[in-house]
Amino acid sequence: MLINVKTHAQTQMIDITSQVQHAVKESGITDGLVHVYSMHTTAAITINENADPAVEADILKTINKVIPFDDQFKHMEGNSAAHIKVSLFGPSEIIPLENGLLILGTWQGIFFCEFDGPRNRKVNVKIIPG
Ligand code: ZN
Repeated sequence: MLINVKTHAQTQMIDITSQVQHAVKESGITDGLVHVYSMHTTAAITINENADPAVEADILKTINKVIPFDDQFKHMEGNSAAHIKVSLFGPSEIIPLENGLLILGTWQGIFFCEFDGPRNRKVNVKIIPG
């Protein structure tokens, strides 16, 4: 299953928890593992707090400080910062699925992390029944 994500900034974290839950519901599978996978080299998936938007802002502020956009990188496309961020965050997360519900903690949400936007992006959701 594919989830389309439209991003609006160079770096942005977008909560896709409800879209993932919807895709899971559409599948009819109620138990197993849900693999959420960014099909891009400059956009990642992470799980973190989705209650206070300040957390997203602080994560982006820090990652942009640690890995600045322009640091005399060699990659001609000019987006090495985004490639490095994705390798640190990782392209995917695996979430347990029980009785049709994603098993997430009270404050946890699934985020699509844009590091070279704005763009139209795709997230693959694959369920391993079990
Ligand atoms: Zn590149």
